[in-house]
Amino acid sequence: PQKSLANLNRIIEKVLVLLQNEFRLHHLELRKNLAPDMPDTLLDSRQMQQVFVNILLNAVEAMKPGGEIRIKSFVDRSRGLQVAVVQDDGCGIAPENLDKIFEPFFSTKPKGTGLGLAVSYGIVKAHGGELSVESEPGKGTRFTISLPLG
Ligand code: ADP
Ligand code: MG
Repeated sequence: PQKSLANLNRIIEKVLVLLQNEFRLHHLELRKNLAPDMPDTLLDSRQMQQVFVNILLNAVEAMKPGGEIRIKSFVDRSRGLQVAVVQDDGCGIAPENLDKIFEPFFSTKPKGTGLGLAVSYGIVKAHGGELSVESEPGKGTRFTISLPLG
């Protein structure tokens, strides 16, 4: 990664601006709750933006009009982590697919590349972080991005 001092909240805000039309077109609501105390850390801003774009576009594709996307961030000082959580109330992921979604070329979409999450996983790992998922079919999906505060 091409790291420089950056702020995870500002990266998220930038991506939300980029995607606001997409959310509007799909009639999706956005609920945002960003940490007031997020410190600057060494991040590859472009790569981290790509992670949030990938995760948020998957959420858009999983949801029906009227759905709600929640995005929050917080600082976990005791674990030395900054954490972002992206949650949707879309179609969810079948349990048998949960351990495949981070594999390159795994896609359940007719024209999916299956690369978005594999690339995102690699980017987060290369930052010394973790990307995890929880999902319930018919209820929704939550991605958690944890990155070291450094
Ligand atoms: P693609 O979007 O091209 O299919 P991704 O790597 O971005 O590839 O995602 C892989 C698969 O993970 C998707 O095809 C879909 O089955 C599942 N997936 C990812 N995000 C979500 C989500 N928010 N809700 C439901 N399924 C999802
Ligand atoms: Mg995708």
